[in-house]
Amino acid sequence: MDARKPRLLTGDRPTGPLHLGHLVGTLQSRVKLQESHECFIIVADLHSLTTRSRRDEIARLPNHVRDVVLDMLSVGVDPGRSTIYLQSGVPAVYDIAILLQMLTPVARLSGMQSIHDMAKNAGLGDADVPLGLLGYPVLQAADILMANAELVPVGADNEIHVTLARDIALHFNDAYGQVFAVPSPTVSATPALPGVNTVAGGADRKMSKSAGNAIWLKDSPDEVARKIRTLPGPAPGESTRAPLFRFAEAFIRDADELANLHAEYDRGAIGFAAVQDRVIEALEKTLVPIRERRAEFAADQHRTEEIIVDGTITARKVAYETLGKVRDAMGLENL
Ligand code: ATP
Ligand code: MG
Repeated sequence: MDARKPRLLTGDRPTGPLHLGHLVGTLQSRVKLQESHECFIIVADLHSLTTRSRRDEIARLPNHVRDVVLDMLSVGVDPGRSTIYLQSGVPAVYDIAILLQMLTPVARLSGMQSIHDMAKNAGLGDADVPLGLLGYPVLQAADILMANAELVPVGADNEIHVTLARDIALHFNDAYGQVFAVPSPTVSATPALPGVNTVAGGADRKMSKSAGNAIWLKDSPDEVARKIRTLPGPAPGESTRAPLFRFAEAFIRDADELANLHAEYDRGAIGFAAVQDRVIEALEKTLVPIRERRAEFAADQHRTEEIIVDGTITARKVAYETLGKVRDAMGLENL
């Protein structure tokens, strides 16, 4: 790993396998950023517990962790260049988080719309919001700051949490001396990919793990085709706004080919079944190499385990080092 490269931290909550929305929204840029950055990729299982802490939900985590890691490996995240690690396996981060809590006004957290949205989505009333959910942005700040990450690619809903991490870093460095790199968020510019109509109205909202409207990266060619065929065509002349064409825009690389597809459809030269066929064909071009890599990694379960363990050991070392600097800067006694 090249220590001269700036460090980046990004990752996912292991609440289910990853889908095509993740591919265009975060995974493709994650693979590219490996060229220019030293990447820390967190599998944020503790963040899952903020809204899903029942025993049956926790019992599903190990499978989701394997799925998410296999998804990342299959799209080309390179464990030789990126540190993929399990959040709960790095306890020094909890220690850092507790110290950062001392610098974080409760009002800053309780004023965050994102926390209210997460609570609402989890069916929690105001009186039931656990401290872990309220404090989740501070734990995220500890994840980012322990790694001295300068860049944090996130979705728009998460930008505010990186801004908090940034403010905490500035505050800490000012109060106790320079310890933390000051992180900046980068928000994906890719428009959200819609879902498919495997559930009623699925294509009217963004593709999401929990909405039942996803095409999974691990879906077979038949499943992909079946799901795309749930998307009807718009009236000719209205192709630009239709979900089916949003898939075309995301996966047909050639600009002329895409423009022709719109034009042919809008003048009635082809029907929407033909558009579905072209979308499926373009998707398969993207998904074939992903499936091949997945099969290679999946054939050796042990290898995936090893990647997670190795990454977590690396993250542990980095976190303990940062914790030491934090304690020293704050003047805590070292016993
Ligand atoms: P959940 O249903 O649990 O909220 P999700 O499928 O919405 O899951 P998240 O984990 O919330 O996925 O998303 C992580 C990041 O992945 C987002 O911040 C965004 O950058 C990207 N992403 C997720 N869904 C899409 C999508 N449909 N289109 C583009 N990017 C997406
Ligand atoms: Mg989401």
